[in-house]
Amino acid sequence: MSGDVGLIRCPEARIYDHGPGHPLRPDRVLLTWELIAATDLDRRPGVRVLGCEPASDEVLGLVHTQEYIEATKAAGSGEEGNWTRFGYGPGDNPIFDRMHEAGALVAGASVDAARAVWSGERLHAFNAAGGLHHAMPARASGFCVYDDPAVAIAWLLREGAQRIAYVDVDVHHGDGVQAIFWDEPRVLTISIHEYEPGWFFPGTGAITERGGPGAEGSAINVPLPPDTGDEGWLHAFRAVIPPAVERFDPDVLVTQLGCDSHASDPLAQLRLTTRAYRECAKELHALAHRAADGRWVATGGGGYQWARVVPRAWTLYFAEMADALDDLPDGLPEGFIEEAERRAKAPVPTTFSEPDLVAGPSDHAARAVADQVRRIVLEG
Ligand SMILES: [Zn+2]
Ligand SMILES: [Zn+2]
Repeated sequence: MSGDVGLIRCPEARIYDHGPGHPLRPDRVLLTWELIAATDLDRRPGVRVLGCEPASDEVLGLVHTQEYIEATKAAGSGEEGNWTRFGYGPGDNPIFDRMHEAGALVAGASVDAARAVWSGERLHAFNAAGGLHHAMPARASGFCVYDDPAVAIAWLLREGAQRIAYVDVDVHHGDGVQAIFWDEPRVLTISIHEYEPGWFFPGTGAITERGGPGAEGSAINVPLPPDTGDEGWLHAFRAVIPPAVERFDPDVLVTQLGCDSHASDPLAQLRLTTRAYRECAKELHALAHRAADGRWVATGGGGYQWARVVPRAWTLYFAEMADALDDLPDGLPEGFIEEAERRAKAPVPTTFSEPDLVAGPSDHAARAVADQVRRIVLEG
């Protein structure tokens, strides 16, 4: 089905900035919007660009404690306090100026994407600035202030959605969203991620994590070994995710599209190429139509090759949402390449496609994990 796609574009979201040297650079999202514009995807028939409003305290409060929201406001406006209690401090979650406003804007953008879809105004909507899936109800974690996918899901439940499927393809486990809906049978969370207990962040996401009392089976995890490549990852995705979502029969599909699973990502060890994102986009799109009457709310997520990978990955996903993936020229527009290289001060790839990598050394092990998850989740 073509058309009816919303692109949330809110350049103000650049204030979500932990400062120079932090890997989560606002340019990731800004360059994504630039590449989407440079490829004319935002001017396709049926595509509408939507702005965003910050989430209110009340909407953030669907997920986060009032105490945490107040602490975030105070810390981000320079007040002294014991902010480490809320996860803030040197390291992953440094305090930055207007931290609350920035987090509320990102969360509001995901709620706006959810509103566009739930109202029927748009069939699919994409908030590239979102996907901050590690934030907990009362604690910042993994670069994430407010958990925008969870806030959007909680908002959808409040508006009357009965069943929501959340699919998280970020290289890191979607621990915040899983924890927030652990006891909630109306929300199915599925995360496919790199997993190596003991050192790889956040350390959760084992097969055995399946949901709390009364919600058993509402969490599904596909933990893959480092060095999994396109083939092993796609096999694992296809073996578990479409059948699990179809069986759940959701009203809405919410996806977190982190692309830190790329072979060149500095923070992780999977070995995907843009081919996997292209295939994944097609799978998710077809799944949204098959299982959720087309209702698809998509967010960005991790991805730390901010000039070389993220804009290409998320433009591929958006092109698929707009039914334009097969018409998308492989070469990137000159103007975009110049701008990306100017900001990165280094060369960037000039095509969406990439040479295939030799099969990931862990592809065989990844298949075995997927088959095990499938046995437990779908046949158990
Ligand atoms: Zn569609
Ligand atoms: Zn990540």
